[in-house]
Amino acid sequence: MSEKILIIGGGFAGLRLARTLNQKREKRITVIDKVNHHMFQPLFYQVASGRIEPSNISFPFRKIFQKSKNIQFRMTDIVKIVPEENKVISEDAEFKYDKLVIATGCKTNFYGNEVLEGNAYGMKNTQEAISIRNHVLMTFERLIIERQRSDDGDWNLVIVGGGPTGAELAGAFAEMKRDVLPRDYPKMSFKNLNIILINATEKPLASMSTEAQDKSEEYLKQLGVILMNNTRVDAYDGENVTLHDGTVIPSNNVIWAAGVTGNIIDGISQEHIMRNRYIVDEYNKVKGYDNIYAIGDIAYMETAEYPQGHAQLASVAIAQGEHLGKNLLKTSAWEPFKYKDKGSMATIGKHRAVVDLRDFKFQGRLAWYFWMFLHLMLILSVRNKIAIFYNWAWAYINKDSSLRLIIVPHKKNNTEQ
Ligand SMILES: Cc1cc2nc3c(=O)[nH]c(=O)nc-3n(C[C@H](O)[C@H](O)[C@H](O)COP(=O)(O)OP(=O)(O)OC[C@H]3O[C@@H](n4cnc5c(N)ncnc54)[C@H](O)[C@@H]3O)c2cc1C
Repeated sequence: MSEKILIIGGGFAGLRLARTLNQKREKRITVIDKVNHHMFQPLFYQVASGRIEPSNISFPFRKIFQKSKNIQFRMTDIVKIVPEENKVISEDAEFKYDKLVIATGCKTNFYGNEVLEGNAYGMKNTQEAISIRNHVLMTFERLIIERQRSDDGDWNLVIVGGGPTGAELAGAFAEMKRDVLPRDYPKMSFKNLNIILINATEKPLASMSTEAQDKSEEYLKQLGVILMNNTRVDAYDGENVTLHDGTVIPSNNVIWAAGVTGNIIDGISQEHIMRNRYIVDEYNKVKGYDNIYAIGDIAYMETAEYPQGHAQLASVAIAQGEHLGKNLLKTSAWEPFKYKDKGSMATIGKHRAVVDLRDFKFQGRLAWYFWMFLHLMLILSVRNKIAIFYNWAWAYINKDSSLRLIIVPHKKNNTEQ
């Protein structure tokens, strides 16, 4: 019988691994994910701000693996790993493996603050991005009916976290305020609508070059974003954001983009976990286990070049998925993983992007075209590339889109079920 490889998580790392293994049809592969689709997280902010459809960046696994006869897909949430018995357990099933690969990625980190978690929006899956879109659009519908005073929380859209996600979201909502809302609600003035970006560091995009940080700050200010640097949020109760210095900002829309933490599954010994990531060696093998591997955001690999582990980025996840796949197919000695940093980028608005390549940094219009081209190339399926290109081209020409649907799940009452 051929070897059975179980992959938990079909994100950037897990999907690339499955596809690499599938090049030689020697292994039996099962991909397990708690959702039925692969998600292109870098464009979640465009779903949240009504620029692209969720289906353009969410790809059903069954469609992806339709022609891959040796790959099976199961949709279920794995809750336990039992290494002694080579099996994993979900709420409704058990799966045996010869080799296990954990590629479960991260979730939003609310730092254990349950009140905050219950009230602020995270943006780590398609559903959450749609929820933000619904909630923000509902706010404008409410505003036009109720005509609240300008000190009401509906007028403050607060984004916490000045990394790429927070900065991109703030820029997108600022453009919405400038270009879209006055046309959608011609009888309303949005002059009092505040897009507030709260950032704990000195400048936004702290992980990028100083040129990128300075430029992104300039772009955010040009777009009218209220940027609060060196500012920490202590609490949010659904109505008020309380800052560390005691300042209170009323807001009914708070998006939390201030950190992620690993999706750890019960069963791996605590001594092999570091900062909520599985400690792996240079072959992505989890320390202390012979047949368990971890890749992507959930893997913590210390190297001379990356003494604190690699950044939690799609490019690292893809590289580790591909590398482990190639090693698993080898009959000779395995190669250690070496990450070739290709750089990072972020876009704040139309013609306003920042790109840090290894030897070259640039910003502005060219960076913006470069960002768009690269993201289009990374999107799965030609149909989605065309759909996104069409939406972007339409928005470029018209400064508008027609994707502002408020779709909330229909709840049946008990008697109807
Ligand atoms: C809003 C946003 C914007 C981003 N922008 C960028 C960017 O511009 N550039 C960049 O390089 N990176 C970006 N990132 C980071 C990038 O998305 C991650 O680094 C990347 O997704 C990591 O890939 P992964 O495969 O490790 O995990 P993921 O892609 O998160 O995939 C993990 C998968 O595991 C599944 N899963 C989790 N737990 C379980 C379980 N118990 N049972 C079953 N399935 C499970 C999840 O459903 C998910 O499908 C962004 C992230 C976010 C949230």
